[in-house]
Amino acid sequence: MAKFRAGSGLVRQGTHRAGTAGKDRDAPEPMDRAAARLREAQLRVTVQRMAVLTAIEELGGHPDVEAIRGRAQEATGGLSLQATYNVLRVLTEVGLVRCTQVTGQQARYEAERHNNHHHFVCRLCGDIIDVDCVIGEAPCLVAELPESYRVDEAAVTYWGACPRCAPAEHG
Ligand SMILES: [Zn+2]
Ligand SMILES: [Zn+2]
Repeated sequence: MAKFRAGSGLVRQGTHRAGTAGKDRDAPEPMDRAAARLREAQLRVTVQRMAVLTAIEELGGHPDVEAIRGRAQEATGGLSLQATYNVLRVLTEVGLVRCTQVTGQQARYEAERHNNHHHFVCRLCGDIIDVDCVIGEAPCLVAELPESYRVDEAAVTYWGACPRCAPAEHG
């Protein structure tokens, strides 16, 4: 059996790189962007973190952990629920991801945009949509509190019925 020695060939046979510089494979741009954001946040760049951040961006809306995991797995292969939670916790801590807890629902996640927005939750289907901050900056609401309490944020949840559910309700 002849030993094959790599790299000894003088003749580079035919493996001519196509002249069209640019995307030779489907662009890994979203993952690159995620990597850059992780570095900005001074986090170690891992495939799992990149995949979770990218999944949240691409899914849009307010996905829960299962939806994020399902999407992220397309990039990472196997990703356990616990691993997904761990990544989400880290990303939330550094402010790349915003976590919203709505009574009676799984935690929902979205890319943090620092726009102090609020949420509307449909009581019937559980859908969540963004509601702009009423006054444009945090804290949106002024609370009646003793002077010694400093408020820096107010999160409002508006409850009701979304257009898809409202007709059924009024049957
Ligand atoms: Zn609804
Ligand atoms: Zn939101």
